Amino acid sequence: MARGVCIYCKQEKKKITRDHVPPQGLLGKPLPKDTITVPSCRGCNQNFSNDDQYFRDCLMSMRIVENHPVVKKQRKKTMRGFRRKESLGYAKEFISRVELKEVHSPGGVYLGQFPVFTTDDNRILDTITRIAKGLYYEEGKGLIPDGFITTARFIRQEVLNDENIKIVLNELASINPRIVGDDVLAYSMVSTPENRTAFMIRFYGKLLFFAVIGPESDLLLGS
Ligand SMILES: [Zn+2]
Repeated sequence: MARGVCIYCKQEKKKITRDHVPPQGLLGKPLPKDTITVPSCRGCNQNFSNDDQYFRDCLMSMRIVENHPVVKKQRKKTMRGFRRKESLGYAKEFISRVELKEVHSPGGVYLGQFPVFTTDDNRILDTITRIAKGLYYEEGKGLIPDGFITTARFIRQEVLNDENIKIVLNELASINPRIVGDDVLAYSMVSTPENRTAFMIRFYGKLLFFAVIGPESDLLLGS
């Protein structure tokens, strides 16, 4: 392992590992040839592992993606975990909380289905935030500048009513996404003159999230 800078904590470390974007559990094995990896320290990598599992289980529990070949394979793992007695409460949590909503861009382009959780789930959004940071680096934008923040969102109606977000979503919908690993991940990115970078991130061809990286004062980043 070589010396390097972790893109998450931005510290220089003697030993740097590679973090998979999206998390490995979503990709299945063997890992696709076009897998994206970014430099990460071991500490950050380990901190992500519980959230990674939660995120995988959450996505795998959704009907809408069940026919995706990678999901079919990976689902078995999730279900095995759920069948363990101590996991029953954990499994129920997923089943009761997720609805899906079809979303069109304000210009009328069908975008896919956004998962709508019955409550905000910061754990899920934390994982999306991290994926956005990885993609930012992958797209050659380097480390996220000090004073910038990254936010991720579930798209709900009130978000779609926001004029600023409408404009960005229309832009994102108009470009071809980059697709990774048999459409496990697809994303589009736009950078705006306000120094913000917005992502539409799609999993398994269906599930969409929205993330923005930009200066703390940015309108799109407000809650
Ligand atoms: Zn780190």
